[in-house]
Amino acid sequence: MADSDPYAALGVRRRINAAGALTRLGGAVMAPEVVEAMAAASRASVDIGELQDAASARIAQVTGAEAGLVTTGAAAALTLAAAASIARWDVAKMAALPHAEAFPRDILVPRTHRTGYAHALAASGARLVDIGHNDRGTGAGVRGLEAWEIEAALSPSVVAMAFSVNATSIVDLPVAIATCRANGIPLIVDAAAQLPPRENLGKFIAMGVDLVAFSGGKALGGPQASGILAGRRDLVASALLQQLDMDVAPETWSPPRLVDRANLRGVPHHGIGRGFKAGKEEIVGLLTALDRFVRADDAAANTALETRLKAIALKLNGAQVKLVPAAETGRVPVLEIAVPDALALSARLQRGDPPVHLSERHAARGVLTLDPQVLLPEHDAPLVAALGAALQSTAA
Ligand SMILES: *Cc1c(COP(=O)(O)O)cnc(C)c1O
Repeated sequence: MADSDPYAALGVRRRINAAGALTRLGGAVMAPEVVEAMAAASRASVDIGELQDAASARIAQVTGAEAGLVTTGAAAALTLAAAASIARWDVAKMAALPHAEAFPRDILVPRTHRTGYAHALAASGARLVDIGHNDRGTGAGVRGLEAWEIEAALSPSVVAMAFSVNATSIVDLPVAIATCRANGIPLIVDAAAQLPPRENLGKFIAMGVDLVAFSGGKALGGPQASGILAGRRDLVASALLQQLDMDVAPETWSPPRLVDRANLRGVPHHGIGRGFKAGKEEIVGLLTALDRFVRADDAAANTALETRLKAIALKLNGAQVKLVPAAETGRVPVLEIAVPDALALSARLQRGDPPVHLSERHAARGVLTLDPQVLLPEHDAPLVAALGAALQSTAA
């Protein structure tokens, strides 16, 4: 396996990924700088709490949050955010999770914000309480989330509210922030895939959310199993405590600086997050990728992607192709390809040699999306060949 191609050694095929940084396709393709930092990190022993303190300082700088934590992904960040909202500094509650029936554990989730990732919140032991309607989303009406809908659901058993932010849902974020603030309820925001643009790293915190989760393995270009939880210091500290290896002697334990030991009535045992520990390699890799991401020139990168997409579109002549610029997608430019049976064509491309993946996110309206976020430049030509052939055979 010292072989330079570990996938060939395992008999696993490489794929052309024009579907985006999808977890099931391995997420981001890391820059050599990130890989080298991870390799260097792997060759030493460090105190993980101390390393997370350093990560917190760096994440705080970049996001404007009080504190930050490297997690094993945005989903893990959501579970830890929920666990922190339930347990705060209470070690007995930390020890009990995910069994939280005996104490306040409700998390409000607007029906407009219910995603498959709500499971990550519930995994903490939280009970999800659906509120409001989805009139705007379904086209049934004009209204979004309203303050009274949140307030009517408040009770002593509510520990937090969750919000999945994107270009569409963000219009409802200010009312959620104001209402949670007024009632002392932490607001947890899932912004896993809201990068780029880079401004979003600090935007939701600046708006006033308490905790925000980002994926490290998507646009940030970090390790696939990495993510960020940023926000209020006390909540991030609780999340960190519930993630750390806590097989420590209370007499010799030196807690991370983030943790105010005076707030703890004892030393926690392994928490709910022990199974999704972030390793030194992920932490260093994520921070290196974060630095690169912050330094990068989004506008130049998007212009370069548009140039590649235009060249691809030209070669697919005859096909119904539309370039959607970054300004419109809110992230990277994409090509939308209108086809008679999007999922049939997608399945055919995935079965090809080499397998090709386009995004199926608009398949329901007859569109396959060529998302170049992690598409390697050397894959442009074989992608055009495979796509051209598949389009021709469906036309025939
Ligand atoms: C990708 C994604 C997640 C999960 O992120 P991971 O970093 O893979 O754990 C959560 N929420 C949303 C909206 C996502 O797009």
